[in-house]
Amino acid sequence: MARLDDRLVPYLQELKRRGGYRTMTPGAPESAARITRGGRRLVNFSSNDYLDLAHHPELIQRAVEWTERWGAGSGASRLVTGTLDIYQAVEEKLARLKGTEAALIFNSGYQANAAVLPALLDKGMIGGEPRIFTDRLIHASLHHGCRGTRQIRFRHNDLDHLDSLLKKHSGPRSRPFIITESVFSMDGDRADLAALCDLADRHGAFLYVDEAHATGVLGPKGMGLSGHVPGRIDLVMGTFSKALGCFGAYIACSAPMRDYLVNRSAGFIYSTALPPGVMGAMDAALDLVPGMDAERARLHAHADTLRRALERAGISAGGSSTQIVPAVIGSADAALAASRLLEEHGILGVAIRPPTVAEGTSRLRFAMTSAHTDEDIQALLALIPEIAP
Ligand SMILES: *Cc1c(COP(=O)(O)O)cnc(C)c1O
Repeated sequence: MARLDDRLVPYLQELKRRGGYRTMTPGAPESAARITRGGRRLVNFSSNDYLDLAHHPELIQRAVEWTERWGAGSGASRLVTGTLDIYQAVEEKLARLKGTEAALIFNSGYQANAAVLPALLDKGMIGGEPRIFTDRLIHASLHHGCRGTRQIRFRHNDLDHLDSLLKKHSGPRSRPFIITESVFSMDGDRADLAALCDLADRHGAFLYVDEAHATGVLGPKGMGLSGHVPGRIDLVMGTFSKALGCFGAYIACSAPMRDYLVNRSAGFIYSTALPPGVMGAMDAALDLVPGMDAERARLHAHADTLRRALERAGISAGGSSTQIVPAVIGSADAALAASRLLEEHGILGVAIRPPTVAEGTSRLRFAMTSAHTDEDIQALLALIPEIAP
């Protein structure tokens, strides 16, 4: 018994009573589409490894090679001796692919959002109290980055609402910030980046876009939706942990912005650089992703098929137009029951419940990958009528 356990135990009991207790289930994936959990081999519709790159031989090989050549760890933070020469090559490759002046690698997507925003939202730098406009559905890591500042939240993807809030909170004070995602992680819908850029221009607002779920999957050469509005977004953040099949994150931005963050972002400065093996996998992913149009076409076709089946069954897929297809069930209990039913039939579709999504919108969040076969999709479709609320 440690100190505080006497408080933690009743808290956890209360969570269990309310159906909000979370546990982790160990599993062994073979590919993006196959996982063994609890001794059973399941078709996995809950992986973010959209292009099946986590098991790609080139990522594995380069991770091994770079580990053998540079070691298992990087030895220090970036500003000390952790910037191995491989970093520069990967960051340059990334900036080229993103079409930006510079790029900077972070250790994870959560860390990037949590570390970049506090450095940016410095009162001295932006000329006063931050005015931050955030989409209602942004990721927890973006909220973390905004901690300690007041967020002015606009209705999800409602740019008229954002415009009116920008007008309402205007003034010759600090520079306003707009923070959103290009593809929303639990809804699979997209932000209208061109319209957001116009709005940001009109209001002189800094635009920060998280491309965690678009990187690798959407946009020119799969390098994200920001590629459709070149040079117009002030800072684009994305991850290597989803479609790019490995780990870590990046920001793509101007050169002064990169230099500023190297000097001011505590989460960057005081954390050990990524291990060389991870850098190797990143490097291989960046070589492969631009040429994976066929894989992208495949997963988007799967998503279209699933959305049509959900519609036929009267199940809402929200505003999904990407590889992420939610089946909105309603109550947390009903979503859990639907997930269990699928699992009995060999299909893994994890239930997403509050607080990750709003009360009453618990869902199965299906993620399509290029590794799913047409038979996998048909097996899922056959069960869709049975999970209709
Ligand atoms: C997954 C995710 C992150 C966090 O990225 P990690 O590399 O997994 O830490 C950040 N933002 C969004 C929108 C995400 O979906």
